[in-house]
Amino acid sequence: AKPERLDKILAHMGVGSRSEIRRLAKQGALTVNGHAAKDPGMKINTDVDQLKVNEQDIIYKPFIYLMMNKPQGVISATEDKRDRTVIDLLSEGERHYEPFPVGRLDKDTEGLLLLTNDGKLSHNLLSPKKHVPKTYYAKVEGHVGGEDVHAFSRGVTLDDGYVTMGARLRVLSVDLERSSPCSEIELTIMEGKFHQVKRMFQAVGKEVVYLKRISMGSLKLDEHLTLGAYRELTAEELEALQ
Ligand code: URA
Repeated sequence: AKPERLDKILAHMGVGSRSEIRRLAKQGALTVNGHAAKDPGMKINTDVDQLKVNEQDIIYKPFIYLMMNKPQGVISATEDKRDRTVIDLLSEGERHYEPFPVGRLDKDTEGLLLLTNDGKLSHNLLSPKKHVPKTYYAKVEGHVGGEDVHAFSRGVTLDDGYVTMGARLRVLSVDLERSSPCSEIELTIMEGKFHQVKRMFQAVGKEVVYLKRISMGSLKLDEHLTLGAYRELTAEELEALQ
């Protein structure tokens, strides 16, 4: 790895702010390869140099990968003028890695959201060329039937004239007891146009009233995560995504 400043690395690892780290250096609380490091600007090679703060090993980790069960009402962005963002749901222990959401879910959409600071992985998952499948569970106003399954498999024309790629629609249930029927479906799409799932149903005259993402590529939403909760990916999940 390319050498980096000691204070930058320690800030990235959540040890403290740059000024706190300067103070720790002055106090002799930082060591590099067993020697007191008084200069917070000294260059570190994270592959070989051993860092300690108050005798505690600092194991360098460049990237963080979090799976969140996004709740409704928060924005999939790092900043927003009015609303809370998914980053606001993280604790300081994760936030200092400066993760960002990989793609977007609408404010009223729930479910699987990957957060990372790994730009390369994010780029690969979002690249239109890669056709990473994303599966959604939805409740839809109206009777979703065979014609819709067929139309979605061929592609439908959105309100802006865009014709979607073939998508896999499965009808889980249709409740005909109500005055207006309501359907539960799963839909897998290989692209990610703005409001795509909602607009695909609009294209066949139906309205999505609840939307939740359940998978992205090989990554599946951990059903143990309550709304707003998150966890790090396991080594296996990360391996499978790359
Ligand atoms: N499609 C939508 O319409 N909304 C989302 O949040 C994700 C996919």
